[in-house]
Amino acid sequence: MLSNLRLVLLQNKKFLATFFLVVFLPSLILAYFGIRAIHNERYKLQQLNFEQQRGFVRTMEAEVQSLVERETASLREFSTSRAVVDRDYRSLHKLIAARTQDKSVLGQVVLWDANGLFWFPGLAGQPPAASAPSVPAEWKRLQPDLARAENSEFQLKNFPEAVSLYGKIFQRSKDNTGKAWIKSRIARCQVKQEDYEQAVVTYRSVIEEFPGLLTESGRPLEIVSRTEVLDALRADKNFRAFFPESLQTIEHLEKDFWSINGDQAELYETLIFQMIDEALSQSPPNQVPENFESSIKKIRESLHSKRAVWRLAEAVREDLLPDIRNKAENLANEGPVIHRNVLDFEEKDVLALLASVDRQKTGRADEFLGSLLQIGDLKESLDTHLKENSPPGVSILFRSVSSEKILYGAEIPSGWTPAFTDFFPENFPPWRVEVFQDEGVGRVTSFYRNVFFWTILALLTIVFFGSGLIIRTIIKEVNLLNLKSEFIASVSHEFKTPLTAMGAILERLLSNEVKDPKKVQEYYRTLSHDSERLKRLVKNVLDFTKIEDGKREYKLMATDIARLVRQAVDSFEKENELAGFRVETKIDENLPPVLADEEALRQALHNILDNAAKFSGREKNIDVAVIRHQDSVEIAVEDKGIGIPENEQKKVFEKFYRGKQASSVSPTGTGLGLTLVKHIMDAHSGNVVIRSQPGKGTCVGLILPLEKGR
Ligand code: ATP
Ligand code: MG
Repeated sequence: MLSNLRLVLLQNKKFLATFFLVVFLPSLILAYFGIRAIHNERYKLQQLNFEQQRGFVRTMEAEVQSLVERETASLREFSTSRAVVDRDYRSLHKLIAARTQDKSVLGQVVLWDANGLFWFPGLAGQPPAASAPSVPAEWKRLQPDLARAENSEFQLKNFPEAVSLYGKIFQRSKDNTGKAWIKSRIARCQVKQEDYEQAVVTYRSVIEEFPGLLTESGRPLEIVSRTEVLDALRADKNFRAFFPESLQTIEHLEKDFWSINGDQAELYETLIFQMIDEALSQSPPNQVPENFESSIKKIRESLHSKRAVWRLAEAVREDLLPDIRNKAENLANEGPVIHRNVLDFEEKDVLALLASVDRQKTGRADEFLGSLLQIGDLKESLDTHLKENSPPGVSILFRSVSSEKILYGAEIPSGWTPAFTDFFPENFPPWRVEVFQDEGVGRVTSFYRNVFFWTILALLTIVFFGSGLIIRTIIKEVNLLNLKSEFIASVSHEFKTPLTAMGAILERLLSNEVKDPKKVQEYYRTLSHDSERLKRLVKNVLDFTKIEDGKREYKLMATDIARLVRQAVDSFEKENELAGFRVETKIDENLPPVLADEEALRQALHNILDNAAKFSGREKNIDVAVIRHQDSVEIAVEDKGIGIPENEQKKVFEKFYRGKQASSVSPTGTGLGLTLVKHIMDAHSGNVVIRSQPGKGTCVGLILPLEKGR
């Protein structure tokens, strides 16, 4: 076995070496470099994507930084402007309002004074009035009379008397503030005596006659009086007047919001809304003006957001300024330093840029000017920038490092994956930039990469498939060599057996030892049979060699099949007389002549008869039939022998192939018989068919085509 393998390899060594060097090795090397190239390309692509995304993130960060820088520069300019140094509120208001208008300032500018009060110079012309009113000079002089009137109002609860007493004082009063205060007291007493109509008239006159003043307790007189009017109207159930008036008052509060102290604004707002809610529940619906509630709702929302800005300024004052005050003192005389801070305000990051204002150059930082930047203020610029610069399939968001809340950025579509995160230089703003990418965009390129990948895979498959084929062929050749070895052994055996027998008979005949003429006759018959057998064996082998070399030729002539079959059966019977075979022949009548090589056909028929005899076992009946079909004539030889298993029925036509069971039944045989038969039938454009059942018998049919028209 191994020696045969070596033989086959040696025989094919040139082919194998060529295959290995020209196909196998180059393919493997190509595949290796191909895979490496794909890998490199992929890496480069990733790198390119990454660089692109990085570049984009950097420009976004730079945009935020430049906005913050611009804001810082503006703040520096404001804090050193003449308007601030000279407390020229009107100019400061104009300057900042103009800058806010043309969007060169984005944040909310706030001025915190030394008393901790603050003002929005971009929104109001001047700071809210000081809470302590300036008491008029005459007030002291009027005190004894005022005390008397107060006694009637509070102790005696004699309101008409109190009204008349206050009225007398009013007559004597010269100062506007004093007059306003006394008139307010008169109105108060009128409310107490439930003369609401009169009270309303009095309060209205206070509003008209004394604009821009504060009450005795330092509140804006106008808004206080307006609130009192509303209260009186509601108490009087004068809803027709109440609703329009309340809308007007709350509108006034909203418009004037920035000039009032935010806490006070909140107080009046609450009071007025409470009254409105009560009035709405008490009044008949037809007395509520059209669109009243929707207008109120709008104002309520606007006030709500204004209060938030107020609270923000307050939060900065409480949380940031004390700290900066300390730092600023240390940095005195170094020019305006802008402090950058972040305030976590109501779950939002607010960037607070703060400059200390030192008007007197005392080195003490008591006043501050600041710009409060919320993400919403930056949104417009960021959106434009994002639209212009974002590469396809990339999305970013800014997330607060402290609250982990998303501050800026669209919803990330599902299926997008995080690519990387980055932080702003110097960690300001303290936001994390998260970059996401669309996997789908990457997939387009990976598809192209896959084309190369599949090409290489196909190349490798072909190479391995080819190698497989070669290995298969080698195995086949080795098997063939093995069969050949067996064949030589069995041919030698086939020759040796009859030759030995013939030698012995001849020896006896030559020595004249056999006298009995019957015996002599029998010996001659045996000699003839054995020599016939040897002749046929040699012929089989020679024919097979011819077939292998492609040299076997056939001469096809019109042949009488019936005669041919009869002769062949006769000679077979004669040869096998001793073995006791009985051959039953049945030939259809009117057989047309068939184109055949007589000798070859006889050889084929003999081979299948020989097989039938060899593989018959004890059953010695063989049926031969010649059947006429529509387009063909079939010579069928049927035995009752061992049969051929289904899986061997094709293999029996292969050269040297001998059935498994056959070898034990008949140890001699070359395995060439049916190979020859098949070849002969092919040369006749015919066919060999095997119908067989193991254990029951075999019928082998030689099918010869009929010429058309026969
Ligand atoms: P050779 O014909 O060269 O002496 P062989 O008869 O063994 O040898 P083939 O005639 O080619 O070779 O037949 C091949 C095999 O087919 C046989 O070994 C046997 O296994 C099977 N075979 C052929 N004819 C029959 C049959 N009539 N009954 C059973 N097995 C058969
Ligand atoms: Mg045979």
